[in-house]
Parts: sequence; structure tokens; C-alpha cells
Amino acid sequence: MKEVSQIFSTAYREKRKNLLENEAKAVCKAYNIPVTRFDVALSMSDAFRMADEIGYPVVLKIVSPDILHKSDIGGVALNLNNPEELERGYGKILKKVKENKPDAKIAGMLVQEMAPKSTEVIVGTIKDKQFGQSIMFGLGGIFVEVLEDVSFRIAPVTKQEAKLMIKEIKAYKVLRGYRNQPPLDTEIIAEIITNTSRFVTEYQEVEELDLNPIIVYEKGAKTVDARIILE
Ligand code: ADP
Ligand code: MG
Repeated sequence: MKEVSQIFSTAYREKRKNLLENEAKAVCKAYNIPVTRFDVALSMSDAFRMADEIGYPVVLKIVSPDILHKSDIGGVALNLNNPEELERGYGKILKKVKENKPDAKIAGMLVQEMAPKSTEVIVGTIKDKQFGQSIMFGLGGIFVEVLEDVSFRIAPVTKQEAKLMIKEIKAYKVLRGYRNQPPLDTEIIAEIITNTSRFVTEYQEVEELDLNPIIVYEKGAKTVDARIILE
């Protein structure tokens, strides 16, 4: 795909292995993986205009090739409800980044829609030495990190296989609905898994991918953070 190849060449030209979040999300869009609306601001006035276009509340995130874990260093401001909060958030992020990572090159500020709260899931890939591109699925937070409640497949993954991956995890009940919790859109999760599989199958130079988290609703889902690492 042309836009994906262009993003990869830019990264290689700049001697980067990590795609920026906006680049990773552009790749997602090219593969029909739903992401939050976003744009990259280079100034405060850009940010005001973009937030107006996207609609409040918005999220701001630092864009830097030197920062992989943005919130660890204060590089994320959530739930900004109006221009005043936006301006404050913008200043605060720049201040924190200067304090915590003074040498980081700043490429801009990502302005994106604030996705409403719901259940978070993770889709990831790694390129295994033996098996090649492999896909992982699990629920966000402690489910993956503490309980290691995940399912794996070797790519390519069909939609049918993707549905089995979703049902396989212990926390499937959370997605299926329980008590007065309505069922969540597992169809869209299966699509995200197969589209991710298609992407890493077509681009073998992807070493690692992390859609973490994807927020899932009764209808639809939104990837709010995406990381892609190239070989
Ligand atoms: P990090 O680089 O630290 O992983 P993230 O982009 O994942 O930064 O942001 C940290 C957390 O903030 C996410 O795990 C998610 O819970 C929340 N978050 C990030 N972006 C959004 C968004 N657009 N809408 C809602 N919540 C978000
Ligand atoms: Mg994240």
C-alpha cells in the first residue's frame, strides 16, 4: 500500500525504528482499523483549530521519536474540555517533557478525540524467529499484564480464527456481556485482528505492533494508542 510504504521510507530515512503514534495510526487507517480522529499540531494555534475541528473533549500527546512511553514522562493530557484547558494541557506537556527528557526532539503535538470510557482490549504482534508474524489478543490492564490471559495465533489469521481467539481468553465473559453489562462489539474486534494480520503479513519488516488500548463499545471500537516497531 502506497501510504504505508511512504511512512516506512520516511522512518528509515530518518533512521527511526519506531513509528510515531500519528504514523502508526495512519497505517491502521490504511488497513481499516478504527482509530480516534487525530491531527498533528506544530503550534498552539494549530492545536486550537484542530480541537475545534475534532470537537471537545480532546486529548493532547507529545510526538517525539525519542519518547516511546508518553504518559511515563507526563506527555499525555486527557479530557481537555475547552480552549482554556487545551492551552493549559499544551503548556504542561511541554514543561514536563523539558523536565523529564530535555534532549528529546519534539516533532509536534498530537490532538485527538477523547474516546469515551469502556472496556479496553489489546491486539499485538511479534515477529517470532521460528514462527514468523504472530498475533496476540487480550483484555487491557491487569488481564494481560498480571493474569497473562491472552490468546495467540500465527499469521495469517482468518476471521473465523480471530473469533476463536476472542472466545478463548478467560475474560471473554466481560466481552460477551454479564449481569446488566450489554455485549460488546466482538465482530469489530475480529475485523481488527484479521486486518492487523493482513498488515504484518504484507509488511514482514514489522518487528512489533501494539494496539494498546483499543476501546470497545456495544457498536464499534477505537484504537487510542498504536505503536509499530520496524526491524
Ligand atoms: P503511552 O505512550 O504512555 O502508552 P497512551 O497514548 O497509551 O500513552 O495514553 C495513556 C492512556 O491514556 C491510555 O492507555 C488510555 O487509557 C488513555 N488514552 C490515550 N488516548 C486516549 C484517547 N484518545 N481517548 C481516551 N483515552 C485515551
Ligand atoms: Mg499506550
